[in-house]
Amino acid sequence: MSRLATLQRIVQGVSSSAGLHSALELIVNDVKTELGVDVCSIYLSLPGSDELTLMATNGLLPWAVGKVKLKLNEGLVGLVADHAEPINLSDAPSHPRYKFLPDTGEEHFHAFLGVPIIHHRRLHGVLVIQQAEQRSFDEDDVAFLITLGTQLAVAISNAETTGELIGPDNERHEDVFIEGIAGSPGVAVGTAVVVFPEANLEAVPDRQAEDAKAEKNCFLNAVAQVQQDMVELKERLSMLPPEDRILFDAYMMMLNSDTLIKGTLDYIEAGDWAPSALRKTILEHTRVFEEMEDSYLGERAADVRDLGQRVLARMQTNQSRQINCPPGSILVSHEISATQLAEVPQENLIGLVCSTGSSSSHVAILARALGIPTVMGASKLPVGRVDGREMVVDGYLGRLCLQPSIGVRSEYLRLADEERELSEELLTEANQPAVTLDGKRIPIFVNSGLLADLLPSQKAQADGIGLYRTELPFMVRDQFPSEDEQTSIYRKVLTSFPDSPVTLRTLDVGGDKALSYFPVVEDNPFLGWRGIRITLDHPEIFLAQLRAMLRASQSTGNLHILFPMIGSVQQLEEALGLLSLAEAELEQHGVSVPAYKTGVMIEIPSAVYMAEQLAEMVDFLSVGSNDLIQYLLAVDRNNSMVADLYEDTHPAVLMALKASVEGAHRAGKPISLCGEMASDPAASLLLLGMGFDSFSVSLASLPRLKWVMRSFSTQQAKQLYEYAVELADPAAVRRLLDEALVDAGLGGLVRPGKR
Ligand code: PEP
Ligand code: MG
Repeated sequence: MSRLATLQRIVQGVSSSAGLHSALELIVNDVKTELGVDVCSIYLSLPGSDELTLMATNGLLPWAVGKVKLKLNEGLVGLVADHAEPINLSDAPSHPRYKFLPDTGEEHFHAFLGVPIIHHRRLHGVLVIQQAEQRSFDEDDVAFLITLGTQLAVAISNAETTGELIGPDNERHEDVFIEGIAGSPGVAVGTAVVVFPEANLEAVPDRQAEDAKAEKNCFLNAVAQVQQDMVELKERLSMLPPEDRILFDAYMMMLNSDTLIKGTLDYIEAGDWAPSALRKTILEHTRVFEEMEDSYLGERAADVRDLGQRVLARMQTNQSRQINCPPGSILVSHEISATQLAEVPQENLIGLVCSTGSSSSHVAILARALGIPTVMGASKLPVGRVDGREMVVDGYLGRLCLQPSIGVRSEYLRLADEERELSEELLTEANQPAVTLDGKRIPIFVNSGLLADLLPSQKAQADGIGLYRTELPFMVRDQFPSEDEQTSIYRKVLTSFPDSPVTLRTLDVGGDKALSYFPVVEDNPFLGWRGIRITLDHPEIFLAQLRAMLRASQSTGNLHILFPMIGSVQQLEEALGLLSLAEAELEQHGVSVPAYKTGVMIEIPSAVYMAEQLAEMVDFLSVGSNDLIQYLLAVDRNNSMVADLYEDTHPAVLMALKASVEGAHRAGKPISLCGEMASDPAASLLLLGMGFDSFSVSLASLPRLKWVMRSFSTQQAKQLYEYAVELADPAAVRRLLDEALVDAGLGGLVRPGKR
């Protein structure tokens, strides 16, 4: 067997091991055999300990496991740890750092090779091989051991995450946070309930149908039942307006589609029994989506698979599935479908975690509408091993912690409690205007994309809509909405605040927001065809949308149109040209359009430098900090691997924001910020200090933001900004801001920081 094949076999064995200890055993045994050495041992640095403990060996005396301990700089093993580099010696005992370990049987061995086990900069231990004869291990051996060390590091890090690897005193010392993507704000401490598809389509065996007619009936009955389930599930979410529940209509359409029905019946006709006919049709269908390598289409594949599983489950048991979800449950899955979310009793659900997906997944959109703290894309979460475990969900920072230590648990419980208490206090706060201590009125608008965000009881809190993401109604449909359909949606949005500004953003698809019926396949979607770049290339789509917006504003006259992803003056000229054309077309048809305003989103670094010129061409600017930060710092906003580099208090971010404000003001135009940064109470202080004129946040974040604005003067905020921008370290900026919040009596708004 080649080295590579051996490595793959060991790695597979490690990942399918029952736990860390069996993985360690497997490695020491296999490495010893494969390399033909006399000893293979693994020393680990356990959480909360400053020593390296012998955890597994094949070759030294077995009693030594768990007993032999070395300081981090002791002996040759300590030297490997200290230097974080391999050490390869033909005669270890003659090395000055050699420390003889009595009663381990070590005295027989001369040759020594040790490699560090490192994961994401952290040393987890040392992997060692030894041999009696004096020899130098060759480069292949070193490379083999290093590669194995990196794989082992992942397994160790997972074991730490799940709480399987704990300190010598059986206490959890260091909380390991698993980074994901913030899906819906809020925090929760509860019990993980892992959701998995009961009926496993892929496991359905091929079988010949004995009675094709009976098989067809069985399949059609199951489809009819699942359709009925969908109607019921849609009703369960009756708190959402019909426009938002249209997703379930899309599922109904899939269930009725020729591809599914005829495809399956054809396979049955050709001799398959119903389950394998269904499997073949569904897999063909999902593969088409999956091969498109597009995150949104990937999610559509998941929808199709979910429907297929449901039909299969109906065929198998003819009973609807029930997820057992007691109070305090946190739903965890690789992919939670919108239907699974609807199945769970909402009053028992306190959090949601998905190891895949992003903040634009259907389920995240629904979770935000339902107010459930959610973390998406937690790719490092070993989903299969967490059912029934205690878990902390931080939907603000997009991270979670399994089996938290007493400290972290109580910190988050306090936060969750405070949020509940605060919500009473904040409700009063929410209905007050945001006026700073020195009397400056800061309009606070709301971000929306679902009509559910605009429930009458909460509307009073906002000064209007600062960002209506028009792509969301496009995303939950199976084709472009018609101009009339769009007009009717936009009219509802505009009339929800008839006397206040309502900002409709033109279609911003691409990046991670794709339309199933408009596939875009790119290597770098965030740097590709998205936002205004698409709509300028498709004037027929853009003009229909612009006409729909203008028509919708006829009775209200409060329309603000916002262009996303503008990178140059020329793009803005083109967009404004098309807007004039849309207006002229309407007027030709006798439709008179009331006055409206236009604005540009500052989300691309080039637009920061052009802010003044852009502002001169429109009525207002609005910073999309979510994108601006990702482009400025070159950090994918949906990649959990680099989530800790996504810093809204990075000095470069602060300088870019300040430059945008100055550009807008030089042109005499107001500037707002509508990204998530304004929802962060600490960061919002800096934004106030820079001179932003207004903000737009989700309804859930609005009361907190108002509280901050009402508790500081613009002068205090300005001073804080001036201090902060001099600090090179984003963490130091955060400390400064947290202290300011505490001093102003807003300690309840301080969020646990990244560690
Ligand atoms: C932003 O980029 O900050 C923004 C508000 O737009 P979106 O999050 O929809 O890309
Ligand atoms: Mg954006």
